[in-house]
Amino acid sequence: MRVLTGIQSSGKLHLGNYFAAIKPMLDMQEEHELFVFIANYHALSGGADLKELRANTLEAAVDFLSLGIDPNKTVFWAQSRVKEVLELYWVLSRYTPVGLLERAHSYKDKITKGIAPNHALFSYPVLMAADILLYDAQKVPVGKDQIQHLEMTRDIAIKFNNEYGEIFTLPEALVEESVATVPGIDGAKMSKSYKNTIDIFMEEKALQKRCNKIITDSTPLGEPLEWEGNNVYAIAKLFLDKEQQLELQADYKSGTKGHGHFKKYLKELIWDYFKEAREKREYYLNHMDEVETILEEGAQKAKAIASKKMEQVRDLVGIY
Ligand code: ADP
Repeated sequence: MRVLTGIQSSGKLHLGNYFAAIKPMLDMQEEHELFVFIANYHALSGGADLKELRANTLEAAVDFLSLGIDPNKTVFWAQSRVKEVLELYWVLSRYTPVGLLERAHSYKDKITKGIAPNHALFSYPVLMAADILLYDAQKVPVGKDQIQHLEMTRDIAIKFNNEYGEIFTLPEALVEESVATVPGIDGAKMSKSYKNTIDIFMEEKALQKRCNKIITDSTPLGEPLEWEGNNVYAIAKLFLDKEQQLELQADYKSGTKGHGHFKKYLKELIWDYFKEAREKREYYLNHMDEVETILEEGAQKAKAIASKKMEQVRDLVGIY
């Protein structure tokens, strides 16, 4: 089975990215044909500052490799190194009704949040469709918020296929239900845009500070705490197996520990969990040439597939 996913390079990776997208992907690396790219073209949508784009792209590569992407098993590249995706994006635009894009929740949410709507933001799902269809991906691991984009991808593919035959594979979203929405420090969906993230590679002190900022109720020390609906618990749970979760629940209910205790505990959980990744990251940051070679080799593998697909599409559509 071919599994593909892209990750935005527009900032630091956070726990939402990790549990919803990266971890399921790492689990799949062993069994499936995995394609992972850094969606650096997508970073052009929404009008964010591009000064850091190049550095962010490489940093994302370092982060993914550190977290466990194995370039010997997985095709790993930067989106911009396979230009065919932009050509397919344009061809697919013809099969994308404006009404379909206008219904996109993610687009509407972003405008409501005050992001100036440019064409890149609006047509973002078409580029995402190109990412997926170019490689005949069967499964696409994403967070809940991206399910609609997958449906749009299928709609676009069906329109194209209706005209030309079974050219594109219809992809399916793969959503980890148990971690479908990772909450941020304010309890809302953890997202860079909401500035409520806990980043994977924070310094230890900053990480503790961030955990301390998680919003909790004002139950006084010495009284039992409610773990249900508690933002610290909701994040800690992601690191724990069933038995450990029950122990933590009991701890909350015991009435002997305050929110401060659990915030320290959460910081330790996060810090220990990413220890090995932090060490690898240190290595890659000091060997950036290795990182660039890995990305280049990945791009060549991806391009071999993409260029074949594009040849076929050009032929069918009649592009000279
Ligand atoms: P952000 O919302 O911070 O900009 P991205 O859009 O870069 O995050 O998300 C990359 C991937 O991680 C996507 O598959 C997205 O659905 C997933 N994701 C991000 N944040 C969360 C979250 N809080 N819960 C579940 N999935 C998430």
